[in-house]
Amino acid sequence: MKLNYRRYDLNLKHTFTISRSSRDVVPVVLLEFEKDGITAYGEASPNARYNETCESVAEFFSRIDIDRLLEPFRLEYINDYLDSLSEHDASAKAAIDIAMHDWIGKKTGIPLYRYFGGEKEKTPLSTFTIGIDTPEVIIRKVIEAANYPVLKIKVGLPNDEEIIKAVRSVTNKPLRVDANEGWTSKEEALERINWLSTQNVEFIEQPMPAAQIDDVRWLRERVKMPIIADEAVSSMYAIPELATAYDGINIKVQKNGGLLKARKMIYAARANRMKIMLGCMIETSVGITAAAQLSPLVDWNDLDGNVLISNDPFRGAANENGHIVLNDDPGLGVTPLS
Ligand code: MG
Repeated sequence: MKLNYRRYDLNLKHTFTISRSSRDVVPVVLLEFEKDGITAYGEASPNARYNETCESVAEFFSRIDIDRLLEPFRLEYINDYLDSLSEHDASAKAAIDIAMHDWIGKKTGIPLYRYFGGEKEKTPLSTFTIGIDTPEVIIRKVIEAANYPVLKIKVGLPNDEEIIKAVRSVTNKPLRVDANEGWTSKEEALERINWLSTQNVEFIEQPMPAAQIDDVRWLRERVKMPIIADEAVSSMYAIPELATAYDGINIKVQKNGGLLKARKMIYAARANRMKIMLGCMIETSVGITAAAQLSPLVDWNDLDGNVLISNDPFRGAANENGHIVLNDDPGLGVTPLS
């Protein structure tokens, strides 16, 4: 039994700017777990929003007693063990959990979407994300994304209207808008959402800081547009309270600590009558394909993290103009390209 990992720098096709950061390179940690002649893959895409770095991921891995991973089928036990090592480190935990799932699928010969009870014809359309930029660059990016039927637009800086107007100067397609906690006053958020309501926007994601749930509740009473939680979604335990302020949640395998936890969150959200979006970080096809295996169970997909990079070292679920196409290989269905 072996557990190996290495840092890998993802090169972005375009500088990626959201309300709190701007990046050209995103380092991730790729993981290989080997047992009984089966090699399984995992990935951690650490996120500064949650105080994670490649170093913190490596430090977490260094504390794992590999004997605890002897029986990958014991997913509950393994997840409890990982949680006992740290309250945080969601992306590092996700990497291990993804590899355990890949191993189980390969051992049993079952693609994970089938293991989860989904049908691969039911993956919702995925958005293509346009980061914050100058109007000229936004227009170029929107034209490049012409084949994607739905776009996700990042806002949350003072030039929101300018961005949406630039998008609308070249396309009428539906938009989903993500403010990444960028609007700090509820009055400002209300004004922006009212304006967005005139722009064929399907929903608004995390308009205000995660901690300001009372303000979001106030907002929800005043707007028709669905409000989706992202940064506010820490774990399944947060869902009942979030349901009092938000219409849906954005579940991410990396942010929420792996496929087992993401699946529990899907059921918790359904029990609270919430809509579900499956989101991602900037990730290789390992992380994106892991999330894609859950996508037949959700309402909206935002799984374009691997499309935004130029050096994906794996091939997995295909993204054909927003249609996520799962393959029938056992486990994750990812293959290293070298
Ligand atoms: Mg988001």
